[in-house]
Amino acid sequence: MNVHDRRKLVAGNWKMNGSLAQLKELAAIAEAARAAASVDVAVCPPFTLISAAVTRAGGVPVGAQDCHARGSGAHTGCVSVAMLKEAGAKLVIVGHSERRADQHETDAEVRAKAEAALAGGLTTIVCVGESEAEREAGRHVEVVAAQLAGSLPDHWSGGELVVAYEPIWAIGTGRTATPYDVADMHHAIRAALTARFGDAGGRIRILYGGSVKAENAAELFAVDDVDGALVGGASLTAAQFVPIIQAAAGA
Ligand code: PEP
Repeated sequence: MNVHDRRKLVAGNWKMNGSLAQLKELAAIAEAARAAASVDVAVCPPFTLISAAVTRAGGVPVGAQDCHARGSGAHTGCVSVAMLKEAGAKLVIVGHSERRADQHETDAEVRAKAEAALAGGLTTIVCVGESEAEREAGRHVEVVAAQLAGSLPDHWSGGELVVAYEPIWAIGTGRTATPYDVADMHHAIRAALTARFGDAGGRIRILYGGSVKAENAAELFAVDDVDGALVGGASLTAAQFVPIIQAAAGA
């Protein structure tokens, strides 16, 4: 597949931030998304804001930051794919490193969540990424390959599978991987995806995440096999998020 056939996707991950008042940011984000016709834009606020965000996002897809693998049952505090869809979600992030660390999520759990989300028709962003110690030990490619092997479903239909490479040491730290490091890892991920899924692996979008901001977005989007970004802190305000959308449109 020609790299230009993969539209860039810029997805905001609000994490445990935001409020009804903050949804006012969505108007300018929606306007920028309409102007950047070549780019897909999405916003993932906390569960409690999804429904309200859908009504304020002017057609920008709204997503969740997690889902449960089961459809229903005795899982206090959890939210199923069907519930997300009923709230209006079109996508979901699974396996974020903060959940892998805070909630001790395993690759197998992430894979089960991805399977459920894809079967439900949601665009599903599966996150992978190494720690600083793993990179310093030269194990980053091996670690990410193992996460991909364990976290991605073998077969899927329904929703779109997206991979987000997010080096843990770059998330929320202001440190960004160099374009060289990003190229290296994204090529390794692409190779793993095509080895496993054939032509379908060439169509999977690979996002970079980790302190993406207006100042570094253009150089990251210029890297081969960077098909967009998963953006945390800089997605919380239109002032910071819109230039990233515009950089993707210019890439
Ligand atoms: C993220 O939460 O996925 C992320 C990349 O955060 P930040 O952009 O704040 O580093």
